[in-house]
Amino acid sequence: MGGRISKKVVRPAAKAKPAVTAKAAAKLVKAKAQAKPTVKAKPVAKTTTPAKVVYAFGGGKADGNAGMKELLGGKGANLAEMAGLGLPVPPGFTISTAVCTYYYAHGNSYPTSLRADVERHLHQVERIVGKGFGDPANPLLVSVRSGARASMPGMMDTILNLGLNDETVRGLIALTGNPRFAYDSYRRFVSMYGDVVLGLKPESKDEIDPFEEILEAKKHARGVALDTELSANDLCELVAEFKAAIKQRLGMDFPDDPHAQLWGAIGAVFGSWKNDRADLYRKLNGIPESWGTAVNVQAMVFGNMGEDCGTGVAFTRDPATGANLFYGEFLMNAQGEDVVAGTRTPLPIRELQAANPLVYGQLEKIRHTLERHYRDMMDIEFTIQQGALYMLQCRVGKRTGDAAIRIAVEMVGQKLIGWKDALLRVDPEQLNQLLRPTFIPAEKARASREQRQLAKGLNAGPGAATGRIYFNAEDAEAAAARGESVILVRIETSPEDIRGMVASQGILTARGGMTSHAALVARQMGKVCVAGCESLRIDYKARTLRVDGRDETLREGEDLSIDGSTGEVFRGRIDTQPSEVVRVLIDRTLDAASAPVYKLYAQLMTWADKARRLRVRANADQPDQSSAAVAFGAEGIGLCRTEHMFFGDDKIGPMREMILADSLEARKAALAKLLPLQRADFAGIFRAMAGKPVTIRTLDPPLHEFLPHETLDQQALADMLGVSLARVQERVAALHEFNPMLGFRGCRLGIIFPEITEMQARAIFEAAAAVQKEGHAVRPEIMIPLVGHVKELDLQAAIVRRVAGDVAKESGIKLAYTVGTMIEVPRGALTADEIAKTAEFFSFGTNDLTQTALGVSRDDAGRFLVPYVGEFEIYERDPFQTIDEAGVGALIHIAVERGRASRPGLKIGICGEHGGDPTSVIFCHRAGLDYVSCSPYRVPIARLAAAHAALTS
Ligand code: PEP
Ligand code: MG
Repeated sequence: MGGRISKKVVRPAAKAKPAVTAKAAAKLVKAKAQAKPTVKAKPVAKTTTPAKVVYAFGGGKADGNAGMKELLGGKGANLAEMAGLGLPVPPGFTISTAVCTYYYAHGNSYPTSLRADVERHLHQVERIVGKGFGDPANPLLVSVRSGARASMPGMMDTILNLGLNDETVRGLIALTGNPRFAYDSYRRFVSMYGDVVLGLKPESKDEIDPFEEILEAKKHARGVALDTELSANDLCELVAEFKAAIKQRLGMDFPDDPHAQLWGAIGAVFGSWKNDRADLYRKLNGIPESWGTAVNVQAMVFGNMGEDCGTGVAFTRDPATGANLFYGEFLMNAQGEDVVAGTRTPLPIRELQAANPLVYGQLEKIRHTLERHYRDMMDIEFTIQQGALYMLQCRVGKRTGDAAIRIAVEMVGQKLIGWKDALLRVDPEQLNQLLRPTFIPAEKARASREQRQLAKGLNAGPGAATGRIYFNAEDAEAAAARGESVILVRIETSPEDIRGMVASQGILTARGGMTSHAALVARQMGKVCVAGCESLRIDYKARTLRVDGRDETLREGEDLSIDGSTGEVFRGRIDTQPSEVVRVLIDRTLDAASAPVYKLYAQLMTWADKARRLRVRANADQPDQSSAAVAFGAEGIGLCRTEHMFFGDDKIGPMREMILADSLEARKAALAKLLPLQRADFAGIFRAMAGKPVTIRTLDPPLHEFLPHETLDQQALADMLGVSLARVQERVAALHEFNPMLGFRGCRLGIIFPEITEMQARAIFEAAAAVQKEGHAVRPEIMIPLVGHVKELDLQAAIVRRVAGDVAKESGIKLAYTVGTMIEVPRGALTADEIAKTAEFFSFGTNDLTQTALGVSRDDAGRFLVPYVGEFEIYERDPFQTIDEAGVGALIHIAVERGRASRPGLKIGICGEHGGDPTSVIFCHRAGLDYVSCSPYRVPIARLAAAHAALTS
């Protein structure tokens, strides 16, 4: 079949930007770090200097609050809010996103007032904590962190322990009496600053981090396995060795002046707003580049000063299942990065109750305070310094689709939110996760019996995935592009791996907890993920995977199956089965009463239906698809593509015979064979839809799509028809078109060969009469495709109406039906007033309307559309997935207005792929459409999106 039949636009992963070498990056960053905050003599009038750009928090008060995310970023706004709530927040200040905007609009420079503002706020922090920045006797150390309006976990840069040098480190030793801690902080700072600000990073995918390499060598030399086994002296040596590596590889000295360090870090954080991974993350998540990031400078508190110190991250509810329990992880004697980076596997938060009941009690209280205050599930970061609890961050927690629904529905029950809030808490796309497959239990049991379970890690991203092993993002992407299903296997993931994660079915990591990068990002993407699977031994260079205690080696390309709901990892493939919702609704193999996830889904959908105005239909061509659509809540069929009904083996023969016919008689003979086949299909659909409207479109595709193009197939057809191969080949050649999409297709077929439309209309009405006779209501809506001129519709409508009259007479059954048209070429939209005189309904075929309005072939767009969107940003999103509002949207507005001007109350829908895209659904609501129609599995998504549209418009 031709390309048009498999027309779904598949979005290949975005193209990698060329890697910047460490040296080149260092040069760039060096220049940035050394740049004093300056203002150009004549500032470009792109942005004015904002009045207030630095906002303080801590010491029991704050300049900002949670409502100021645009200016302060999520982190800054929530730190301010927590400080305002009286929670223990270390003091600091936020440099607003307006400075980021200014920075990029003014050649990487700052507003004139910034330096003085920062100094003033730094003094204020010094006063609150009673320390001095750069004071060798009593040093204040700070963290410098990014914070955009929307959370972008790990995508931008962070620097901790800033303010340390060879003098202040001695002050820190004197203050804490803990040289090991002081040098540990110092070596962490130098490596982090060296990486993030100075740009000393691995240069290739196989190279390990230069600082990591030095650290490993040191451990090896000392004969120890863990960082914690290194002595103060070892760590002190590491500081010097790190600095020497920076000098040797980048040709620069490590900055000792804390103020130079601070400005370098601020520049690096603003600079990281436009690094490759942040760019990609923004694109994947639709975050505009214009938002910018804020920079948060905050007094350090330490979780690694000793055994009465610790750090952790937690969620006020379980982010994987949504269960209402305190969920998190902590590590004693560690810094926050240890938990998030997954370099040590943390302990479950409940164990903190035993380790430090006082702090645990405080955290439990804060958990409730935050949920009551924010009325949402929150994600928090905390540090315990010498037994005192500090809150370092809180934000609305990311969650799986399952968790989003459970939390939303249960919070209504707890009277924390109303049902409308609950609807808005669930992203329509998240419903996809509820429809995801799990392993077939018998298959999984067999895998267990065969002892194929290799290991068990953390159930970080639910769902089951099976695919081939790849060990790095690049290879994973390449394999996915070849059509393989991929399991990305990493020791731990970092933001650089995001492309590989996008391309994979599942992600497996050896290290890291539930809040590690891999886990967070996978959950957000809706990917299956098993994290922290510690028994794995992964060798990137050899591309092998071994498991402790098992004498076998898995290599790149071998099959692996992972269960992100249980954490199990199996060798080989395990077949998957549909989700609970699908089993209740579609397969009917599970009873709703014993399906808790289904019950939550059903509650949410009930609310969605109460809120929405837009109706939701499905695109379906077969009775089973129609039944599935109804189970998912479709209120009718918005598009039945009759040509899809000819795909089956028993129908393609007569269809080809009809196309190849070179006389009216021959064509009619073939059509007579097709008539009963079509009639039976229509009857099946009418029965499945039980009185709901069914829009049936007359034949549309270019005929050549049905012809065999391989000699063997042509010979088989010739044999079936009893003609010569040459005869078949001659007809195929005669039907060849240079531009079939704009050729002999759509209503043009039925106008030139009216007997085709006659046969289809007869099949529809005879089926309608038969099903009505059985006692079912039937509501056929006959739709004529690709109409650009009202006369085209007139000609086809006349045939349909004549046949309807004939069938009514023959059957003695009164048939209620309507005749309408698709609007899918610009002329149709522009002359909608004329067309609406005949058409009783419109349905926007936005696949073709996009193709014809943009002059972009829907079959050939892949080659240039990806860079058009990703690189050149010509279109914000793929116009074949999300309606191009400025162009195609304008045509829709015109057609709606003109159509309804000549036929008030004209029913209008959409049946292109856009009908299942939440953003486009919202557009359709605002454009005044009556319904959207999409594939059956997207019906729930469209229902929720329609509710969002109604609640937000
Ligand atoms: C359309 O063009 O949007 C449409 C629904 O028709 P098809 O995709 O079958 O061309
Ligand atoms: Mg079309």
